[in-house]
Amino acid sequence: MKSKVAVKSCSTYELDKVEKVLTESISLLGGISAFFRSGKRVLIKPNLLTDSRPEKGITTHPNFVRAIVRIIKRAGFEVAIADIPGEHRLESNLERVYKASGMREVAQAEDVRLLTETKFVEEDGVIYSSWVKEFDHIISAPKFKTHSLTTLTGAVKNMFGLTPRLYRIRLHKRFLRQNDFAKMLINVYKKCKPTLSMVDGIVAMEGNGPAHSGTLRNVGLIAVSADGLSVDSVLANVMGLKPNDIPTNLEGGRQSLGITAMEDIEIVGDNLENFKKDDFDLPPAYLVTQLPDSALKFLNRFAEFRPRVDRHICNGCGICIENCPLSVIELEGKKARIDYTRCVDCFCCLETCPIGAMKTKSGPLIHALKFREWFRKAIAH
Ligand code: SF4
Ligand code: SF4
Repeated sequence: MKSKVAVKSCSTYELDKVEKVLTESISLLGGISAFFRSGKRVLIKPNLLTDSRPEKGITTHPNFVRAIVRIIKRAGFEVAIADIPGEHRLESNLERVYKASGMREVAQAEDVRLLTETKFVEEDGVIYSSWVKEFDHIISAPKFKTHSLTTLTGAVKNMFGLTPRLYRIRLHKRFLRQNDFAKMLINVYKKCKPTLSMVDGIVAMEGNGPAHSGTLRNVGLIAVSADGLSVDSVLANVMGLKPNDIPTNLEGGRQSLGITAMEDIEIVGDNLENFKKDDFDLPPAYLVTQLPDSALKFLNRFAEFRPRVDRHICNGCGICIENCPLSVIELEGKKARIDYTRCVDCFCCLETCPIGAMKTKSGPLIHALKFREWFRKAIAH
């Protein structure tokens, strides 16, 4: 059986326009009633990684979330918005995230609840928010971004945000290899499976996402589907990748959790070809994983794709220290310093540095792979 993904063009965050395009997208899939058959309570889970302003493009845009709220409320459901940011300073200060990201304004304007308190439940080795049990439906509303560890953060990875922050740090420490980490993300996705995924790809992020080190890219895309894996396949396609280049897709497909092959996905709405970005700047980690294991063994030392502190920007706030799962960062002369002998390249520090002082460095192999990728795409044209 085929799955369906609605893709629609939208080049602005103007509220009425976003609402219109989202409404059309849902209609193309059969309308709200096709998915929300029972229950009354819907939780919208945007990607609120940190307390940054909407124009930074790190968090799901407030007008995107507001448009979803309006549509779901109009259909007669009770709506709430919630996320658990991945940084210690914000765990007990969600209000700061909600305010900076524009969610507080959305909640006030649309008279919906922003959740700040949760208990956690543990099932089959996965710990996740009790919100999942308290609501009848979840809508995953991610921002379309690259990710230094998982290549893409889309519909599936977004659900990792419903796990407790300290648990996330432990998981980063436990699942060091990209494929093992993807398996863990899929286990979380299974427990927190959304009824619908609606992706904010109007302004996406390429390069060293998903935070301050990434680069914003106008893609002008809204993608909606009941199948989170299918929607991530579509995002991979826009990036110029194959669905299984995304480790969570590979694992999710293996477990038959959704449809990942493009030939089994029916695209409705606009032509997907219109959104493809052949020059999409891929995260270096992806390029390295394309090498066969045998070659990687010898060449990995030339990749040197690692976090790097920009000492000119670092203000010594210590946030990366609190969020490093291996505790390998310390302050030296009021600047962060990484002990590379123990660093496992999980890039949690990159995600959580609030001012973009944590960057990446790349060795000659990465530069060579980037050139190869550019050449491959040039030839394909
Ligand atoms: S690298 Fe960023 S998070 Fe770490 S101490 Fe410097 S400014 Fe703070
Ligand atoms: S320094 Fe950064 S990349 Fe290295 S282990 Fe710590 S958080 Fe992960």
